[in-house]
Amino acid sequence: MKALTDLIRDIPDFPEPGIMFKDITPLLADHNGLQIAVGALTEHYREADVTLVAGIESRGFIFATPIALTLGAGFVPIRKPGKLPYDVVREEYELEYGTDSLEIHRDAVKKGDRIVIIDDVLATGGTAITAAKLVEHLGATVVGIGVMVELEYLGGRQRLDGYELISLVQYENP
Ligand code: AMP
Repeated sequence: MKALTDLIRDIPDFPEPGIMFKDITPLLADHNGLQIAVGALTEHYREADVTLVAGIESRGFIFATPIALTLGAGFVPIRKPGKLPYDVVREEYELEYGTDSLEIHRDAVKKGDRIVIIDDVLATGGTAITAAKLVEHLGATVVGIGVMVELEYLGGRQRLDGYELISLVQYENP
């Protein structure tokens, strides 16, 4: 996945001091890179009988939609509070300072659905586990969690213990 690593840009101190932001916009702008990334995640789930692919706002949407199309599945958005227009289920999660939450439409998934959750970057894992809880709350099964980039030094994988997790590019250090 060297080709992908070369297309991910480090932005120090964004959006705040001390954060090394992984900017995937060069990868999105590169046809080959985009195809490799979407293709690798899609292949991983090809035999998994996926019924829906859930993307986490907002960069997760970009990858989730083409994966869903190729797998013959639908797409479901998981969004920040106040963005979804219909009845929602909300789940709160802890941040370093304070809390945040994610929402999903109450009728977006149903019992028996087999869901893949997609985001661009796995950091502490708080976002991904919250997305998984939302889907499970509605009675669906989380088949797996897929991300482009895993920041191993933040321990997200440990927090997601029990879930099937794939990442395409890993960083041991910031
Ligand atoms: P977390 O809940 O800590 O796993 O954070 C994951 C979410 O925050 C993802 O939706 C990412 O888009 C974003 N994120 C967190 N840390 C970074 C980072 N260093 N670079 C880029 N995106 C990040």
